[in-house]
Amino acid sequence: TGTFDWRDPLKLSASLTDEELAMYQTSRDFAQRELLPGVVNATRAGTFDRGIMNAFGQMGLLGLTVPKEQKQRWLPQLASGAKVGCFGLTEPNHGSDPSGMETKAAWDGYTGEWVLSGSKTWITNSPIADLALVWARADADNGAVRGFLIDRAAVDRVQPGAFATPAIEGKLSLKASITGSIFLDGVRVPRCAMLPYARGLGGPFACLNSARYGISWGAMGAAEACVEIARGYTLERKQFGAPLAAQQLIQKKLADAVTEIGLGLHAALAVGRAKERHDFSPEMISLVKRNSCGKALEIARNCRDMLGGNGIQDEYHIMRHSTNLETVNTYEGTHDVHALILGKAITGENAFVSGA
Ligand code: FAD
Repeated sequence: TGTFDWRDPLKLSASLTDEELAMYQTSRDFAQRELLPGVVNATRAGTFDRGIMNAFGQMGLLGLTVPKEQKQRWLPQLASGAKVGCFGLTEPNHGSDPSGMETKAAWDGYTGEWVLSGSKTWITNSPIADLALVWARADADNGAVRGFLIDRAAVDRVQPGAFATPAIEGKLSLKASITGSIFLDGVRVPRCAMLPYARGLGGPFACLNSARYGISWGAMGAAEACVEIARGYTLERKQFGAPLAAQQLIQKKLADAVTEIGLGLHAALAVGRAKERHDFSPEMISLVKRNSCGKALEIARNCRDMLGGNGIQDEYHIMRHSTNLETVNTYEGTHDVHALILGKAITGENAFVSGA
């Protein structure tokens, strides 16, 4: 028999390679050293620190899944953090159901350019992006959804104002991240700006699969931070003559949280291993994205509660995680939409569209 480690209850570390463990340690140290000290003030002020993209790049933490031998123009700059990209799928009238997408790409045979018109909303990093990947219906391809790379500097030089990306104000979640709209007013891009191989919604969905898989880990990371803080706090804090951590109700909450984190991380690793074997389905990713986000949100709310009044104060961090997880539960496919994806796979019945 061994000892129980509440930080790694089901011995996830034993399932990781030395290289993966080193990456885990490096990322953790980076987050503690570079990100944690500034995040409270950034959240208070609602400001995004562009410099952290360069720091991420220097650490080799951007584009981890992009084979470096790819020599395309943008990838090295995006991987180093020198340039920032954004991913424009969601539109004002089309969120969970992007099949109704209205943004258009019209082919101009005289100039050999695509002309993009329409709008996107809720796009992470759009106000500061040097490069936007925008999904649009291409008229010259029977209205198929295609991806277009927009180089902001190139457009601004010849069509000032045609590519506008105002920030969305008033967010109460992910305040230290910048989110905006994209307005495309006849933006002209060369023929080569269209992604050659992605055709139909499979293109954006393939991107989303990778992001959703990453979220299944990240949400659990936020939950781990909440548990660590709540555990420390309740060990220190005495009420009714005893540490809160000695009370059964508090211990039950911590036991539930540590259990869900242990299970959630192992589930994420199982999907990661299946991805490495090229033996995975999108439903597996829906399962872990949905589970990690829903469980992390519940854990964060419970941990917030364990801190009492101090729990709503930003210097205790938990409420920030809790409000941020509200977004994480919604973006990259909402909790309920992933339930419908799983429900369809389980029953063969499509519940996305009501019978009305
Ligand atoms: P809706 O689709 O209108 O959904 C509203 C509610 O209805 C949800 O609860 C949903 O679960 C429910 N619902 C929808 N359909 C059904 C159904 N058939 N049955 C039952 N319930 C249903 N998008 C990008 O393209 N790029 C980004 O970088 C990006 N970043 C984001 C950053 C932030 C901070 C946020 C908040 C969002 C971001 N998004 C981004 C958009 C995000 O992906 C969408 O918000 C999300 O897909 C939900 O779409 P929606 O907001 O239009 O909600």
